[in-house]
Amino acid sequence: MKSTPHAGPIRHVYVHFPFCAAKCPYCDFNSHARREGETDAYIDALLAEARGWADRVHAETIFVGGGTPTHCSAEQLARYIGELCTMFAAPDAEITVEANPGSVDPAKVAALCAAGVNRVSMGAQSFHDHHLERLGRIHVAADTERSARVVRAGGIPRMSLDLILATPDQTLAEQAEDVARVLALAPDHVSAYVLTFEEGTVFTKRMRQGLLPAPRPERELAHLHLVRDGLEAAGYARYEISNFARPGEASRHNLAYWRNASWLGIGAGAHSHLSGVRWKNIDDPAVYARGVEAAGEAVVWRESVEPVWQLFESLMMGLRLVEGVDLDELTTRHGIDVSAAHDDAIARLADLGLLRRDGARLMLTPDGLDVANAVIAEFVPDAPTTETIMSSA
Ligand code: SF4
Repeated sequence: MKSTPHAGPIRHVYVHFPFCAAKCPYCDFNSHARREGETDAYIDALLAEARGWADRVHAETIFVGGGTPTHCSAEQLARYIGELCTMFAAPDAEITVEANPGSVDPAKVAALCAAGVNRVSMGAQSFHDHHLERLGRIHVAADTERSARVVRAGGIPRMSLDLILATPDQTLAEQAEDVARVLALAPDHVSAYVLTFEEGTVFTKRMRQGLLPAPRPERELAHLHLVRDGLEAAGYARYEISNFARPGEASRHNLAYWRNASWLGIGAGAHSHLSGVRWKNIDDPAVYARGVEAAGEAVVWRESVEPVWQLFESLMMGLRLVEGVDLDELTTRHGIDVSAAHDDAIARLADLGLLRRDGARLMLTPDGLDVANAVIAEFVPDAPTTETIMSSA
């Protein structure tokens, strides 16, 4: 696999740490509770997989996500994040670690700083304890405020906070208070995602049993608009449907995803995408660790993506950005004339006031951002998606 074609060094790396203190009932991430005994073996495997790529990576961004990457000791943090940064990070790299309130303390923050971490993304989610409890979170609002102070006092220069919007029975007044509590902590960046009911989660099961209210698009938009307006009034620019940043503080790593750049994923369940070839690692942390120990990698499938689908992915991701996409750049990159392929759809969506064209740039209008998934669906190609290179499924 290490011969996967890719011109030049790999510039973006995602690292997955799959353990959490508890499994939240709405979560469909590859995260596992109460498996602390596996942590050292998992870190060994993570580092072994990473070493196999070290000579090909010059990372401008590294994002350590989860799971809860800080759900381990300060010593374990220093070991795995320290070595990853030494192996991969270019000078001035953006190095982000996700953290949950209550899972950071001064010793862990010192370990992150010493490793080179310069950005923490913290899952605040809500500032109302009864909503946090309903979401199955193990922290309370006071933990978020304390943890944010610990991160700042420990010298991490950039901080992002996550909010979940339109949670069951949450009122608009409570949502507005969440915005005020976020602003009081002065983060550099805010991610604000509407709660989604994913297949296979406890929340979705409860919703289908009538135990939780079903999502209503108009309610979700009301919450999103309230948060958008509150953050924009406070000087945060919306640069993606659900992401807001002070000037210069947009997430460079997530921008790479939205611009459909190549990235390498390390760890259980991590996806990689290098020059039109994608693969996914085994989800289960113990099986992943055994696979890496035996073969240096633990891939569950690998596939080559057809250019027409690579173009669709660039549109799907790029149109989430307020800046939109550059049609000339996409034509060059994917070898497909975007205008010829999609002129009818673009004209139709522009007539509906959902898309706007400015020279070579194509972007969603504010109304289009409200219905982005429906707009993007208009560009789905009528062609097979991939060629499977290997699959162990
Ligand atoms: S803390 Fe995050 S990753 Fe872990 S279970 Fe909850 S939502 Fe999922």
